Amino acid sequence: MRFVHDTLPQRVCFGSGEAAANLGNEIGNLGASRVMLIAAPAESDLADTIATDLPVALRHDDVVMHVPVEVADRARAAAAAYGVDALVSVGGGSTTGLAKAVALTTGLPIVAVPTTYAGSEATPVWGLTEGAKKTTGTDSRVLPKVIVYDAALTMSLPVEMSVASGLNALAHCVDSMWAPNADPVNAAFAAEGIRSLAVGLPKVVANPMDLDGREHALYAAYLSATAFASAGSGLHHKICHVLGGKYNLPHAQTHATVLPYVLAFNGPAAPDAERRIAAAFGTTAALGGLVGLKRELNAPRALADYGFTEDSIAEAAEAILPSVPPSNPRPVTAADLRALLRAAWSGADPETVF
Ligand code: NAD
Repeated sequence: MRFVHDTLPQRVCFGSGEAAANLGNEIGNLGASRVMLIAAPAESDLADTIATDLPVALRHDDVVMHVPVEVADRARAAAAAYGVDALVSVGGGSTTGLAKAVALTTGLPIVAVPTTYAGSEATPVWGLTEGAKKTTGTDSRVLPKVIVYDAALTMSLPVEMSVASGLNALAHCVDSMWAPNADPVNAAFAAEGIRSLAVGLPKVVANPMDLDGREHALYAAYLSATAFASAGSGLHHKICHVLGGKYNLPHAQTHATVLPYVLAFNGPAAPDAERRIAAAFGTTAALGGLVGLKRELNAPRALADYGFTEDSIAEAAEAILPSVPPSNPRPVTAADLRALLRAAWSGADPETVF
């Protein structure tokens, strides 16, 4: 066994009902006295409940998915005008993403309080959108110094969004198995993430207030993002990146829909990954485990349901092809991508596509 693994410097505080106390302590540890509290309107009530003891100098709710540059510029200008010395984000990946955009140019420390399973809080990856083009980059300044996880804050996430977001986390895990910097440490995190999602998400669907289910999903979200941050973007993320940026498809639902087709395509060429994913699901085949879980969760099924059209398939395949990682376990042609996208567009049975 031979590998090089980067472990990112981050403090993680995990405790249900403890976000307010943990947040107060961590802001104290940072010595911050002028906090910019970032939360989208839908997340504002959650922020209210945990920010009572914070030295908030500025509240900011101008959050838009995929962080348009003008939204980032307004947030940066506000941070400068109020002389803030720390950023606290309370919300999903879009809110964390805006805090990262501010940190990228200011170097301000972020304390992230995630309320979905997107996992952005555990990666040094930022994203900005200009027109229809999404640019991403990696910078240690945007990695939150502290993550405060509190599963009680995820109770209000609607079931449908919880499922899509949970499958976004599952996609981080699966893609980590064969991404360019895949290594045994990432694989261990990813496998535990898959196991925990398979336990937690059905409980959340059965009862959105099931704290144990929520905790399993949130813990898995952290593992999934840690694996992804180290392993990098594999075929699945390259496909979803183009679909999200070029066709403005919703992030989590796109991941949830595309994942089984990538697993169907790559699985036979990646027997170790296939074996580990199946073991994590507790099934004989990886794809069978994923398809079974998606059925149980009534998860997103077809890209056509999210605005992707049949006549975009060929163009999307051409746009994805140059970014396919050369290390993908199976060579990928434009025809392969067209077949994969066609199946994902229509929601065809992933077990019969390749
Ligand atoms: P999101 O942040 O846009 O949230 C979806 C909706 O749910 C929003 O309206 C939000 O306000 C609401 N919401 C969030 N938490 C809630 C809660 N607990 N209760 C009720 N409503 C709640 O969506 P997302 O899927 O979390 O994040 C997607 C974004 O994150 C994309 O832009 C994606 O590119 C980015 N992302 C980045 C990384 C990274 O490493 N940089 C990783 C994953 C995702």
